[in-house]
Amino acid sequence: MTRQKVALVTGGNRGIGLEVCRQLAQQGLHVLLAARGEAQGEQAAAALHSGGGAVTAVSLDVRDDASIQTLAAHVQRAFGRLDILVNNAAVLLCEGDSALMTPPEAYQDSLETNFMGPLRLCQAFVPGMRERGYGRVVNVSSGAGQLSSMGGYAPAYSASKAALNALTRLMAHAGGPRVLVNSVDPGWVRTDMGGPRAPRSVEQGADTVVWLATLPEGGPTGGFFHDRKPLPW
Ligand code: NDP
Repeated sequence: MTRQKVALVTGGNRGIGLEVCRQLAQQGLHVLLAARGEAQGEQAAAALHSGGGAVTAVSLDVRDDASIQTLAAHVQRAFGRLDILVNNAAVLLCEGDSALMTPPEAYQDSLETNFMGPLRLCQAFVPGMRERGYGRVVNVSSGAGQLSSMGGYAPAYSASKAALNALTRLMAHAGGPRVLVNSVDPGWVRTDMGGPRAPRSVEQGADTVVWLATLPEGGPTGGFFHDRKPLPW
């Protein structure tokens, strides 16, 4: 069993998730780059220079409970534990700007990936973290999920990220004092989701995610952060 910290990053094959994998591996961690497309995951992992760490591609569709259970069993067999969980995978559907006109299916779909996925993964891994007395969970949220900012933009996505923030609070409580669970707003980042006009690079977007994933003992838990600073809910 490796003594390196083991980190799982969902949606690790592109965008912010891929950069989080790169930065964590550079810090010497063993990174499980989770992708729903096996080929995409293998390709992304192979392209990363892992620095002192290692990167292994694993299959994961966060909407599929069986896929999560299979992965959890694999992680237990191969490593005996998971130290860090980064819930990064998400979808931003084409939706209108009016909460009234956005169809219920869009809410359902967004919640399924952006909230139920992280919930399932927390339920699979946080109990083990709690038992061992070490864990870091980072829920990659969005400024769109801030209750104070909730207005016209992508209502279903915003609601799913607000729900994800609620999950952060619940899991911070459930995980106990040694499992640090936090939400992060990466800012507007140039990825497939953010588009080419976004002002931030993936390196900037990943920075606070990686900081929260590697917090020292006694670090914050149950918080929401942007650029390493607390953000109001
Ligand atoms: P991208 O659209 O570039 O990447 C999304 C990732 O999520 C892909 O790897 C995708 O996999 C994966 N994914 C989607 N659905 C599933 C699923 N069911 N199971 C497994 N993986 C899945 O997004 P970003 O990198 O921009 O976003 C990363 C995070 O940052 C998200 O949580 C997003 O909400 C958040 N965020 C991004 C902002 C931005 O400006 N970019 C702003 C604020 C927050 P696949 O390749 O198979 O589709």
